[in-house]
Amino acid sequence: MSARHDRPDKTAPGKWKKLRDLSMRSDNRICADCSAPDPKWVSANIGVFLCLKCSEVHRSLGADTSKVLSLTLDEWSEGDMESVIEVGGNSYANSINEAFLPRNYPKPKPDSNTEDRIKFIRSKYVSQEFLTPSLRIVSTKSPFQYVESSKSSASTFDSKSTKKNVEMGQFIGNLKVKVVRGSKLAVRDMLTSDPYVVLMLGQQKSQTTVKNSNLNPVWNEELKFSIPQNYGALKLQVYDHDVISADDIMGEAEIDLQAMITAALAFGDSDVPGNMQVGKWLKTSDNALMEDSLVNIVDGRIKQEVHLKLQNVESGEMELELEWLPLDES
Ligand code: CA
Repeated sequence: MSARHDRPDKTAPGKWKKLRDLSMRSDNRICADCSAPDPKWVSANIGVFLCLKCSEVHRSLGADTSKVLSLTLDEWSEGDMESVIEVGGNSYANSINEAFLPRNYPKPKPDSNTEDRIKFIRSKYVSQEFLTPSLRIVSTKSPFQYVESSKSSASTFDSKSTKKNVEMGQFIGNLKVKVVRGSKLAVRDMLTSDPYVVLMLGQQKSQTTVKNSNLNPVWNEELKFSIPQNYGALKLQVYDHDVISADDIMGEAEIDLQAMITAALAFGDSDVPGNMQVGKWLKTSDNALMEDSLVNIVDGRIKQEVHLKLQNVESGEMELELEWLPLDES
């Protein structure tokens, strides 16, 4: 473990450990605003992990808008830890705060200048331009309360403004997606590409790291989603990262979750000994499957391997592993 986690546990060691674990999840290992690696700062009320440069912009907005704390230097109150744990970090927070971020919007990069950083961060958190419209709350001082808290944590959540929240309480389970690898991906630079994978479930969005100059990248990265009652397909897009221009698309595919979720709702609570097949998503001429995709119970877990041929592109395949996580394992 790196030095950032050497802080001695003082207040609420259990919660501090949860926060630490959260900080090590892949979506929280890059800055929520500019994607710089290894962020060491947190906005406690917004629930995002930030690099130093973005944290300075956040601090300039005032603590009412963004309460910036250091993972290594600051004393954390229990309420601040709870607040971050409840949001769950960058992936969930961005799925709300960037739900309506236009595809080609120039999001800051790690080397962006301060002016671009300020412009983006103010648009994102102060004027809330990219927020799900139903969640835009203009009048309250502290707009960042995505979740209706199930506990009576009045200290961290303002009951007046949580009324507008619609996202929580309607989920039926969680989905873990391991992006295993890509192969024969399309060339978007001179000879190669710098691919990364974006997954979207409804308005939740999460992405892998960039693999530079690699048409057969191995990611083995896990991305997590909450599954709403009215779930649609999991959408996958592969992009070529470019430093100067906008990133280029390298194909896409849709993943039908119905077979897995039907199986999960039927078998999720039962203790099935050993391994068995409990569902199947069939390859057809209309979907992106390269072969039938089986839903299996493996050591009590519901899993599905998916092998996709990317669509709307000259070449490219993707391998994923899906796993159902019951709500109480989130
Ligand atoms: Ca590139």
